[in-house]
Amino acid sequence: MKKSVIYPGSFDPLTNGHINIIERAAKCFDEVIIGVAKNSSKDSILDPNERVIILKKIFKNNKKIIVDEFEGLLAQYVNKRKVYTILRGMRTVQDFEYELQMATSNNKLNSKLETIFMVADGNHSHISSSLIKDIIRLGGDASKFIPKIVERELKKKLLKKG
Ligand code: ADP
Repeated sequence: MKKSVIYPGSFDPLTNGHINIIERAAKCFDEVIIGVAKNSSKDSILDPNERVIILKKIFKNNKKIIVDEFEGLLAQYVNKRKVYTILRGMRTVQDFEYELQMATSNNKLNSKLETIFMVADGNHSHISSSLIKDIIRLGGDASKFIPKIVERELKKKLLKKG
């Protein structure tokens, strides 16, 4: 039986930290489904469709990696995909507190759902999407932390006018 996992997140924007988790997961699973959450957060920079396009471009050569988007509860999305294993990345103790609450709540909402964690690579554990947005917004160089295509899109959005 095919072993699949869902890696859900905002990916606003995708960073090298996310990419590292996805590539490592693809070595552990037959299929990694990236679930882009369509949230209505006012702070989001890229719209869900733009995030999906970026992810598809980045992973176009890896057949094991599928890019999808979902709206609403993850606990319902897993039923739609019939994949009940969720992967999340763990960077810090702050992540742990939030992730523990989410994993427990999701399991209470859907008892089939199991969350597993992958520890962030030491080279990427300091990277967060919000930090990237701040760096670009303030005119810094984020090229070490994000793919070129992400840098281009963010600059377009964040540095549009002075
Ligand atoms: P969400 O809004 O759901 O937290 P994110 O896009 O911020 O979505 O993150 C998706 C997942 O990727 C989360 O599990 C998060 O902890 C993990 N993650 C984010 N940045 C990194 C990183 N630099 N290294 C490893 N995992 C990360």
